[in-house]
Parts: sequence; C-alpha cells; structure tokens
Amino acid sequence: MFTIGCHLSASDGFDAMAKTALSIGANTFQYFSRNPRGSKARPLDLNDIEKYKKTAAENGITVVLCHAPYTMNACSSNPGLRDLAREMMTDDLSRLSHIPGALYNFHPGSHTGQGMDVGIEQIAQTLNSVLTPDISTPVLLETMAGKGSEVGGRFEELAQIIEKTELSDKLGVCLDTCHIRDGGYDISEDLDAVIETFDKIVGLSRLRAIHLNDSMNPVGSHKDRHQKIGEGTLGIETIKAVINHPKLRDLPFFLETPNELDGYAKEIALLKTLRENY
Ligand code: FE
Ligand code: FE
Ligand code: ZN
Repeated sequence: MFTIGCHLSASDGFDAMAKTALSIGANTFQYFSRNPRGSKARPLDLNDIEKYKKTAAENGITVVLCHAPYTMNACSSNPGLRDLAREMMTDDLSRLSHIPGALYNFHPGSHTGQGMDVGIEQIAQTLNSVLTPDISTPVLLETMAGKGSEVGGRFEELAQIIEKTELSDKLGVCLDTCHIRDGGYDISEDLDAVIETFDKIVGLSRLRAIHLNDSMNPVGSHKDRHQKIGEGTLGIETIKAVINHPKLRDLPFFLETPNELDGYAKEIALLKTLRENY
C-alpha cells in the first residue's frame, strides 16, 4: 500500500479534509492542529468527526498526521512560552484521542541561545509533563534542518530527547527529506548510509512518517526551504529512491511542497508512477 497525501488547510473540518484528500488521489493528509500564528484551536465538532470516520473507513484512510504549530517552542528561553507549549500539546493530544489513526508531529524547538543541552533537557521536561499512560496518539519529533538554534538537526539530539523522556514508548520520529539533507545527511549521495545511521542512533522502529519535500538548497545548508518534487536539489531520482526504499516504503508520506491543491494532485499522480510494484 502506498500511503501518500499532502498538507491541507484544516479550516473546513475533518470530513472535508478527507474528501479533499480523496479528490486529489491521496489516502492520507496532514493538517495544523491550530493556526500557526495564533494559539486558539477551533472547538471539537464531534458530529464532523463521526462523518469523517465513516468517510475514512469507506475509502481506506487509516492514518492522518496532525502538525503542531511551528511557533510552538518547548525550549524557549521564555518560561511563559514553554508553559504555552505544554498547554498546547496537552490540548492537541486530548483532541486527537477522538481521531483514530492520528499521529501528532511537532518541531522539537529552538533553544534561543540557551544551548543545545538545555534545549534537549527542556523538551524532555515538557514531554514528561504532557505524556500520560492513557495517551494513545504517537507523538513524533520532526527531524529539523538545524537552522539557527533549532534542536533536532542531528539524529543524536532526537535520540537524547527520547532517552530523557520517561514514557518514551509514546514517542516516534517524522523524517523530513528536505530538512535532513539541509541538515547535512546526504540522501542523494547515499540513502542507505543515512538510513543505517538513523537506525543506529534513533532506531528505525521509531520512524512513523515521512515529510516528502524537495529542497531549494544544497546539502548541509541548514536553510529549510522546501521545493516542489523533482524541481530542487534532491531531484526526482532521490525522491523515487525514498518512496521505494524497503525500509521506508510502508510509511505514510506527506508532501509539504510549495503547491496549491492542483499542484499537489499532479505530484501525487507523478509519485504513483514512480512507485514500484504499485
Ligand atoms: Fe514541520
Ligand atoms: Fe516537515
Ligand atoms: Zn520545513
């Protein structure tokens, strides 16, 4: 099964997102838990969720990815912003308990000058206060490009966060192809070696989702500028290798390329032609 989708606007609700996904040939989707600029989440519409469950079941949607706002920072030097991150995560996870097959992805954070060790410690502290045994939604740390004071640009940083988190069985990783290459992991040169490194440091069993993006910048640039599939520095052959790699191919893939809906539809159609044994 090729599980492929893209980032969608959450404004029309769950059932509408599922129908939009299906209309562009997708069988999954990603959405923001709340407006990245604000912190307010829309009230839960259980009626909409019931409709969504029916649509999903009838059309084979088994997984969706909820992305925390990228402004959320669990390791800000400002304690008020750290508190806010904890509150948002707790609220997002309680909403997600209503969505079967949901994964929750967040950017680990930016240490804003406190240093990497403090950043890692504060992210783990946040997770230790948010995660409870009853939470059923996997919580994914996203691999980052290592821009500015970002935590998570190195696999070791993610491994340390996981190690310091008590309920680490709730944690996984979402690998972003643009971010890791910008971060210095050259998946165009040697994808196998990068996967092996990830397995050694984090463990492939943690890997739950892939953000499938091309990049505007060269390897190691630490920039984080996404490009359309095949139009960036990764190129179509690298993308093809990622979606077909035996260790990756069964994961859900999410496009976060600079596209409107019609562009996403074209990329999904293209990716299906590149998928082997599909
Ligand atoms: Fe992200
Ligand atoms: Fe991403
Ligand atoms: Zn990005």
